[in-house]
Amino acid sequence: MPKTETPVAFAMAPVMNSQALQKFAVLGEKEKQAGGIKTRAAKSSTDSVWETTVNRLHFEALKGNKSTDVLIIGGGIAGILCAFKLKNAGVDCLLAEAAEICSGITKNTTAKITLGHGLIYDKMIKRFGEDTARLYAQAQDNAIKEYARLCKDNDCGYQTQDNYVYSLNDRKKIENEVAALTRIAVKAEFSDACELPFSVAGAVRVKDQAQFHPLKFLYAVAKDLPIYEHTKVWELLPHKAKTNHGEITYKKLIIATHFPINNKHGLYSLKLYQHRSYVIALKGAQHINGMYVDESDTGMSFRSYGNLLLLGGGGHRTGKKGGCWQELEAFAKKHCKNAEVVGKWATQDCMTLDDIPYIGQYSKSTPNFFVATGFNKWGITNALVSANILCDLVQERCSPYADVFDPSRTILRSQLAVNVFESVIGTLTPTVPRCPHLGCALTYNRVEHSWDCPCHGSRFTEHGALIDNPAMDDKKI
Ligand SMILES: Cc1cc2nc3c(=O)[nH]c(=O)nc-3n(C[C@H](O)[C@H](O)[C@H](O)COP(=O)(O)OP(=O)(O)OC[C@H]3O[C@@H](n4cnc5c(N)ncnc54)[C@H](O)[C@@H]3O)c2cc1C
Repeated sequence: MPKTETPVAFAMAPVMNSQALQKFAVLGEKEKQAGGIKTRAAKSSTDSVWETTVNRLHFEALKGNKSTDVLIIGGGIAGILCAFKLKNAGVDCLLAEAAEICSGITKNTTAKITLGHGLIYDKMIKRFGEDTARLYAQAQDNAIKEYARLCKDNDCGYQTQDNYVYSLNDRKKIENEVAALTRIAVKAEFSDACELPFSVAGAVRVKDQAQFHPLKFLYAVAKDLPIYEHTKVWELLPHKAKTNHGEITYKKLIIATHFPINNKHGLYSLKLYQHRSYVIALKGAQHINGMYVDESDTGMSFRSYGNLLLLGGGGHRTGKKGGCWQELEAFAKKHCKNAEVVGKWATQDCMTLDDIPYIGQYSKSTPNFFVATGFNKWGITNALVSANILCDLVQERCSPYADVFDPSRTILRSQLAVNVFESVIGTLTPTVPRCPHLGCALTYNRVEHSWDCPCHGSRFTEHGALIDNPAMDDKKI
């Protein structure tokens, strides 16, 4: 098979804008030395702090037909890290991105690099046993260490931080999680988390985790990779992908499109749902050392970026109602007096049935298709875990972590009943408009002025333009 020609990456000059400069006046050491942060004007009032403080990279669209050993679909953190690992391993690969790299969920993350993914380990031990929980934690820990190595020569604001998962009212849950982590050889301790501007029942503290600027990191990683932007895969045939610019012939395929785009296999429309969260950037708030997250699905999350405090929360199943930015703003008013909201954005992630992502062979009947999805809002470490596992699997090597993340594991979990219920209700509800994905009734999101699907999480603008998949196309509203 001929080697794929590497497409050209070029950097766009930053557009200096004094308002944006003031808005996100967050200077890292290197940025201060360089004479100030480089920002560009926000395209919309809900651009994330990462988008406005980075020089974007651009790649050409595919021209004509190509052939490759491994085609990666999707240029978010998962797809980019897969391409990075495969290229470094000497594997011929190509990445096709429908829009621009990092323009999906990744641009809106809070970018904590941690294995403290909520209170999952006590549950995981009870559900799957100690070995699975140990391997899950080990895979995350390896990713954290690898980020530390990769960030050494990458000016991406990487900072070591302790991570805290707190509970507002249940000290016992925290004690159980500390005990669970200790059993699987993760160093964790009970903490009062007294730095927070409100009291908590306790927190699990894991030291030496990290945070960074995700787009600065990923653009540096992506710059020499074989990427085609504005190249949307419309149809998947065995060994051939049809895009809006030509066809790509492949031997193996990695689907890293956030919500997987192939409905025929793997039951992803039952195994996944999407959960939406909101973030505000506060200037003038108390500086918080460390990264914090509430153990509750609807609780808050905190980290700093320069002189800003990033506050996340207000979450809800996509298509349903939730606290949104209002809840965050009310919280800030109460606990961060005198702080000013200087930015806000929102995003969503794919949630699995059992807190473990789906990374591996797409389905039992598709031996050459692989997937990385269902990161449960912890895609920074899990994307690198995906890249490591999939790099082994496409080269037909064993991965010690493959069984833990196997997408074909049992789906008999209580969340399955909720997902089926939502799909049935969505299908039977007679209202229009309907989602082009599987025909569910869309609901109007008054906060973000969009049409959202409660079944699988597709979203559309008021005028019907596709914002978030699994739908593949715009909707006529
Ligand atoms: C509010 C919030 C905060 C978070 N904070 C953290 C955190 O602190 N730490 C952490 O670990 N995780 C965090 N996460 C989770 C993490 O951000 C995500 O899991 C991760 O960014 C998902 O990356 P992805 O590559 O899977 O998806 P995406 O970034 O969405 O990438 C998928 C790409 O595929 C492309 N695509 C889709 N369809 C096609 C097609 N047909 N053809 C070609 N391309 C296609 C899209 O355009 C997109 O660019 C957070 C999530 C949320 C919601």
